[in-house]
Amino acid sequence: MTELSNRPWSSDEDKFHEECGVFGVWNAADAAALTALGLHALQHRGQEAAGIVALDEGGIFHAHKGQGLVGDIFSDAKVMAQLRGRAAVGHNRYATTGETALRNVQPLYADFAFGGFAVAHNGNLTNALGLRRSLVGRGCLFQSTTDSEVFIHLIAISLYSTVVDRLIDALRQVQGAYSLVALHNGALIGARDPLGVRPLVLGRLGGEGGGAPSWVLSSETCALDIVGAEFVRDIDPGEIIVIDTQGVHSIKPFGKHAERFCIFEYIYFARPDSVVEGTPVYDTRKRIGAELARESGVPADVVVPVPDSGVPAAMGYSLESGIPFELGIIRNHYVGRTFIEPTDQIRNLGVKLKHSANRPMLEGRRVILVDDSIVRGTTSRKIVEMVRQAGATEVHMRISSPPTTHSCFYGIDTPERGKLLAAQHDLEEMARIIGVDSLAFISLDGLYRALGRPGRNPEKPGYCDACFTGDYAIALTDTQDNNARQLSLLQAG
Ligand code: AMP
Repeated sequence: MTELSNRPWSSDEDKFHEECGVFGVWNAADAAALTALGLHALQHRGQEAAGIVALDEGGIFHAHKGQGLVGDIFSDAKVMAQLRGRAAVGHNRYATTGETALRNVQPLYADFAFGGFAVAHNGNLTNALGLRRSLVGRGCLFQSTTDSEVFIHLIAISLYSTVVDRLIDALRQVQGAYSLVALHNGALIGARDPLGVRPLVLGRLGGEGGGAPSWVLSSETCALDIVGAEFVRDIDPGEIIVIDTQGVHSIKPFGKHAERFCIFEYIYFARPDSVVEGTPVYDTRKRIGAELARESGVPADVVVPVPDSGVPAAMGYSLESGIPFELGIIRNHYVGRTFIEPTDQIRNLGVKLKHSANRPMLEGRRVILVDDSIVRGTTSRKIVEMVRQAGATEVHMRISSPPTTHSCFYGIDTPERGKLLAAQHDLEEMARIIGVDSLAFISLDGLYRALGRPGRNPEKPGYCDACFTGDYAIALTDTQDNNARQLSLLQAG
């Protein structure tokens, strides 16, 4: 889900507004309430806005969307009562800057000749600008500036007759990363892009007594847990799953592709209690921390995580190194993620609001700070300054990901390359900027070892790690078009 428009490209529009959570329920009483619970468990995937579309037994769709947190949008009993029906889909939206209008909040809904259709999208389409331009040229009237709306128009103009065939037709034309949940009168549908960049899982609720079970689709397993659903399986890359009164059907129209699940879901994005692609996120983060300790151990008195994202990796680091783990930094949980603040000035202020030093754990000690990633370096710089002010004698920073040198175009919010610290500076310069005595990142091979592989196989990595390698497995059509256009403007100028 990214915002775009058919206005001529400007550097200002080269922003990413993705990172979302999707959830769907089929054949359950209070489907919308279950969806609200699911979205609540997926709140970490998007805090800007949320929406639910429910389908009642008379075939009527009911929608409610709002800006803010799930708990605020869906706390009114009257709102929930209006979302009648035994099927629903929901979406959490994340945006850093840019347009936050309600018309961009998902699920998107359209009335087609075949009936109503609601769709919620996690990921980012890399040819949406081009598709949008050609759809507008054909007379399609866009209602929003989100890339996800191209699904609606591609389905609308498809010449196929069934909803599923129209959806497959649309998916054949899009490039990029997507995990979708969609709802129409006859079925709940889930779909994952052919490389399986973003996650999507299937769960089941009840049905033991011989009754028809309820089915759940979710970005992560943590949202199955909150509604008491049992994990059934991951939706496969390139799979379309159709859940209707007959049960669950699987369609694989795209042939076999080499999988590229997003490695950053393990490092930062997914909730630690989720199991992603069969691997528990928490365990993986601890193993990354242990690997980091083996690769770049340093004598110290205490291992301190940058909360919350650095906690499991710091535990792994501490266990492996034998250096005690302490909560030397305390996080205030009532402040949103610093990343959503739009300016550096506000972001700096945000970091101070969010973290404070636990002085007795730091004073007079050599401290190993563990965090999951350095993006702009703002967090690290502030944290290191705070730890030094609290009396640490040495500060060593250990990062449980390789240096983030490239932007993500597939659904993780990252600034443009010029703002990525590791894209602009070498290790020594980064250490100086952050103000640490030493700085180390886990190696790419180390990261793959922590994921149970012998190392990174460049021929077949198995994960999307473009943010660390620049190895973009899906064409960046819009970006290349924009670059070409800029170049021709420059040449013309
Ligand atoms: P920065 O201060 O820009 O270096 O950002 C680094 C911090 O942001 C780390 O503590 C990460 O946990 C967190 N982070 C990394 N990637 C993202 C992201 N895509 N969205 C939000 N926060 C992130």
